[in-house]
Amino acid sequence: AAEILTVGTELLLGQIVDTNASWIAQRLAEAGIDLFYKTTVGDNAARIEAAFRQALSRADVVIATGGLGPTEDDLTREVVAAVLERPLRLDPAVLAHIERRFAHRKIPMPDNNRKQAMVPESAEVLPNPNGTAPGLFLKDRGRCIALLPGVPAEMKPLLTEQVIPRIREAFGIGSRIVSRVLKTCGISESKVDQAIGDYFRAMRNPTIGVLAHAGEIHIRLTCKGDDPAAITRMLDDLEGKIRERLGSLVFGRDDEKLEALVGQLLRERHATLAVAESCTGGLIASRLTDIPGSSDYFERGVVAYSFEAKEEILAVPPQIIKESGAVSLEVARFMAEGVRRLGGTTFGLATTGIAGPTGGTPEKPVGLVYIALAWDGGHVEREHRLHGGRELVKYRAAQMALELLRRHLLSVPITES
Ligand code: ATP
Ligand code: MG
Repeated sequence: AAEILTVGTELLLGQIVDTNASWIAQRLAEAGIDLFYKTTVGDNAARIEAAFRQALSRADVVIATGGLGPTEDDLTREVVAAVLERPLRLDPAVLAHIERRFAHRKIPMPDNNRKQAMVPESAEVLPNPNGTAPGLFLKDRGRCIALLPGVPAEMKPLLTEQVIPRIREAFGIGSRIVSRVLKTCGISESKVDQAIGDYFRAMRNPTIGVLAHAGEIHIRLTCKGDDPAAITRMLDDLEGKIRERLGSLVFGRDDEKLEALVGQLLRERHATLAVAESCTGGLIASRLTDIPGSSDYFERGVVAYSFEAKEEILAVPPQIIKESGAVSLEVARFMAEGVRRLGGTTFGLATTGIAGPTGGTPEKPVGLVYIALAWDGGHVEREHRLHGGRELVKYRAAQMALELLRRHLLSVPITES
């Protein structure tokens, strides 16, 4: 089993978050390598030594990150070499790599950096294309030890491309774990449970887990096996069964984003969109325009926060605001129609609500949000009672608006170009 040792005083002070440890832990799990301990230690030689000795006493794989730099507080290489009784020798190829990097940046190499070319006896050098210090891989009495740079962008490719394959080879590990996430929006966890609960109680491989995220429910399928092709088949099979039950409630997979999928649906239908936002304050427009190519379908966004803005820009009748209040189904509908008219778009989408924490009343509590969608000759409105703090209510409201549009688009035929 493995132990992760992250080195750095900033980690202990809480100034940087130990993302390396959690990222490495995930890769180890996927690679079928058990992890029993994670340890963090500061930039102190005696304590790094103690932590490293302890790791060697209880793990057969030790993966250390940090402390490979050129400065005095970078101690990992020296301490590990001393504990394993491997003298450090200057590696000319590593030194040449470091000198080249400095020459490339047209700055003289400080003498300190020679330290990064020191390699413990019979250690393998893992070339680091993204930084100066290479990774180091050692075998010692049946154990594997990897020393990796602390900078995540340098550490990650070294771990997945160089370290994990060596560990799997050394311990003859054939199995791996692969997971896949199916995302739904606008239905409750219990609804998901009703629909697929029988699967997730009965399945052993792949297993199913259901997780609530901001405005989304994620269904995670996790499969363990030796043969990558067989794993893919098993995941495909289970995904198919789940999609049979949930149908279009599943909007996407893994890293797919709701705003990107909505954009894709708009593009396929040659449809355009204008958005009028009150409580979401531009978040929907922001999320839509995060997607490259969104100018194909996103025409404009209006943030109409005050009564005046709703009246002046979107032509919401003052009478309606007076009668129903700014947070109402009617106002949402007038906003959607108003912005659609302004933009001359296929659709107008609008939000109005109470994001909190103040401003709620018994009839209109914090988290009450109205969403409306308008198109030529029709409109639809929804009322939502969202929970969470201000930011979360805004995010969920944007999510519900995008989902309302997505569901509507699925019933709209795709037009030929
Ligand atoms: P360098 O050559 O940059 O000094 P190093 O291998 O000595 O690299 P550290 O000095 O320990 O690594 O860390 C360099 C930077 O990498 C830190 O300032 C921090 O931003 C990031 N870092 C280090 N350890 C971690 C960690 N465990 N999780 C996330 N980021 C980290
Ligand atoms: Mg450093």
